[in-house]
Amino acid sequence: MPVTANTSVAAFEPPALGEPYLLTPGPLTTAYSVKQAMLRDWGSWDGDFRAMTAELRNRLIVLTGDTKGEFDCVPIQGSGTFAVEAMLGSFVPKDGKALVLANGAYGLRAAQTLQYLGRAHTLIDKGDYLPPRGDEVAAALDADPAITHVVVIHCETSSGILNPVAEISQAVYAKGRKLLVDSMSAFGAIPLDVNEIRYEAMVSSANKCIEGVPGFGFVIARKSELEAAKGRSHSLSLDVHAQWAYMNKTGQWRFTPPTHVVAAFLEALKLHEEEGGIAGRGARYVKNRDVMVAGMRELGFETLLKDRWLSPIIVTFFCPADGNFAFDRFYELMKDKGFIIYPGKLTVVDSFRVGCIGRMDEHVMRRVVEAAGQSLKEMGVADAAPPAIAIAERAKLAA
Ligand SMILES: *Cc1c(COP(=O)(O)O)cnc(C)c1O
Repeated sequence: MPVTANTSVAAFEPPALGEPYLLTPGPLTTAYSVKQAMLRDWGSWDGDFRAMTAELRNRLIVLTGDTKGEFDCVPIQGSGTFAVEAMLGSFVPKDGKALVLANGAYGLRAAQTLQYLGRAHTLIDKGDYLPPRGDEVAAALDADPAITHVVVIHCETSSGILNPVAEISQAVYAKGRKLLVDSMSAFGAIPLDVNEIRYEAMVSSANKCIEGVPGFGFVIARKSELEAAKGRSHSLSLDVHAQWAYMNKTGQWRFTPPTHVVAAFLEALKLHEEEGGIAGRGARYVKNRDVMVAGMRELGFETLLKDRWLSPIIVTFFCPADGNFAFDRFYELMKDKGFIIYPGKLTVVDSFRVGCIGRMDEHVMRRVVEAAGQSLKEMGVADAAPPAIAIAERAKLAA
């Protein structure tokens, strides 16, 4: 279905009959033309597919704002975690040490990955959602001269917080260290421009804000760091340098590429460009979030995060205090109405999440709110207000 620049996003086609919208942070609802792009087989060694791989890499580099040819893009088969593991194993030297900034599941997973890799690391753990700040990163780097790299999660998808990567990057480079960014759930919708935020490497995947289907991730890294990564990886299949060198030499992936996923991703990249690139995509997600959050607040729901920390990617809501509310039942009622929501990941209070990304617009988000209101009625929940303990928890986060 053709979508041209400035076409109202209301023109988005709904998912196929009976298919729910995925209000989840990937896999997510994709365009019909993205799915359609998979209806063809490609030979991985063939020139046509090699050209597709080259186009994919070039288009992704353009999204970083690199105009000096300082960065390169290396796709890696597997889900996003494979690409994170590839990045950490390839860029943190065996005698290096990483400082991981954790405020949720993905930060903790990065630390766990370093543990598996046998790389020295330390952690600033802010708990379920509190953001790591530049000054505490600076203090940690002063206190431990052995730290060579800092790992930050751009949007911590487990709470939906947008972490302050710009101030963290400043702190890291002011102390002469290097930054690695997990921008999995942010890249493509939130700028990570190499001319504005300094970093050595970042990672994202096909099935998040570019709105492709799952099957590969990609590392975008400074070429000097790619060169330096030679022989460093713990893993044959996750060796970023080896994949990069082979791809540059042959135009091919080292091992069987997810050909259909690549074809779908190229179509997704074209739709991304037509929508106005990162700015256009980000603006739609912001609108999705604003409409959805305003409507949910009218129903009495409250967000975990104060507005300045809310990402346009996914939003955490507290479960209502009302004894008639049960998340499992709410989930089923929402699904009956065509919307798949996401369980929460907070350890202290009950919560759930609603994603704002994927092939949907504010009109869909209004229907999400209607469905939530209707589901509350069916459960006999008069008011969606959270328990006092949730409000007390939230008070920990400065405005
Ligand atoms: C999705 C995501 C990942 C990767 O998760 P997979 O399930 O392996 O795709 C990593 N980091 C963040 C912040 C994410 O949102």
